[in-house]
Amino acid sequence: MHAFQLIAAGTPGAGTTFIAGGTDLLQLMKNNVIAPDQVVDLAGAHLRGITATSIELRLGALETMADVAAHPEVRRGWPAISQALLLSASPQIRNMGTMGGNLLQRTRCVYFRDTAFACNKRHPGSGCPAIAGENREHAILGASDSCIATHPSDFPVALMAMGAGVAITAAGGGTRVVPLADFYRLPGDTPEIETILQPGDVITQIVVPASEAAKRSVYMKVRDRSSFAYALASAAVAIEIRDNRILHAGIALGGVAPMPWRAAKAEQALIGATADAAAFEHAGRLATEGARAAGMNAYKIALAQRAVTRALMEAAHPTAETGVL
Ligand SMILES: Cc1cc2nc3c(=O)[nH]c(=O)nc-3n(C[C@H](O)[C@H](O)[C@H](O)COP(=O)(O)OP(=O)(O)OC[C@H]3O[C@@H](n4cnc5c(N)ncnc54)[C@H](O)[C@@H]3O)c2cc1C
Ligand code: SF4
Repeated sequence: MHAFQLIAAGTPGAGTTFIAGGTDLLQLMKNNVIAPDQVVDLAGAHLRGITATSIELRLGALETMADVAAHPEVRRGWPAISQALLLSASPQIRNMGTMGGNLLQRTRCVYFRDTAFACNKRHPGSGCPAIAGENREHAILGASDSCIATHPSDFPVALMAMGAGVAITAAGGGTRVVPLADFYRLPGDTPEIETILQPGDVITQIVVPASEAAKRSVYMKVRDRSSFAYALASAAVAIEIRDNRILHAGIALGGVAPMPWRAAKAEQALIGATADAAAFEHAGRLATEGARAAGMNAYKIALAQRAVTRALMEAAHPTAETGVL
């Protein structure tokens, strides 16, 4: 039975999980991190398609990371999306991994992925060994006393800077589009709840507005190795500049929070400012306002600030270096 037959039959329950490319789901199942009652294949649910117009970009949830990254319209109108995808994983994984699956990949926190350890996200109430443990890769923004894990994906960081939305078909029928900013949930006391999705909800499309800022967007990723590594910190920016004045700015951080982190105060500070290094450095500092280190991850505060500043510089004055830091 494929996804929409299951939804039409009204049967998906809390134990039902969908599979798209399987690059994250199967790893979690093999390691006994999750054990769904039922796995439903989304293949055949007609969730492909890349449509670019002067108004918006629509990405089918089953489009692969590789195909979206290589699409000429995406590269022209929303370059940060292409850059974020090309800086993700490996060619093999990008050939399998999908848009919907990338939004929903689980954290790479080593304690979450190893059942020998307690973990509030895996077993609510069992504790968080990362808080006093190995937390070099953990969150500096949006974390709680229950969980300090980061969201590991690159692609939704670019989406967040461009004000994207997620189209969701509910188990009971009907499709709604939710702003990405409202799609993820911060951990609070319930780190096991990561999004607003209800059992049986299927992501069908991702919708990204077209804009001059999106055309001038940049994704900057900082990691331990120059390929096949998750972000320690990353920044996506989308800015519109006229006569050296900033008319619009979208800024989001990755690798530093439990969700792609929108830096609204930094965005506001840039509107009307001269597009120069001083303004971009100021925005970098504002982007991490409220950051709190857990111990080994204190370095991420300066790293994220520099990633934002470098991404803004690159967007304002493009070089061949885009995406490499
Ligand atoms: C070694 C390695 C390195 C990696 N490096 C990076 C990296 O640097 N950056 C990065 O961003 N990613 C990285 N990844 C992660 C990879 O990008 C994701 O595994 C991939 O995007 C997941 O997509 P998928 O289609 O395979 O998802 P699946 O594994 O099929 O599913 C993942 C989750 O999404 C749910 N799901 C999938 N599609 C839908 C839908 N349409 N509606 C509702 N639920 C859905 C599934 O139920 C499941 O819970 C890496 C992965 C590996 C293994
Ligand atoms: S940081 Fe979150 S995912 Fe990691 S061990 Fe703590 S509760 Fe689990």
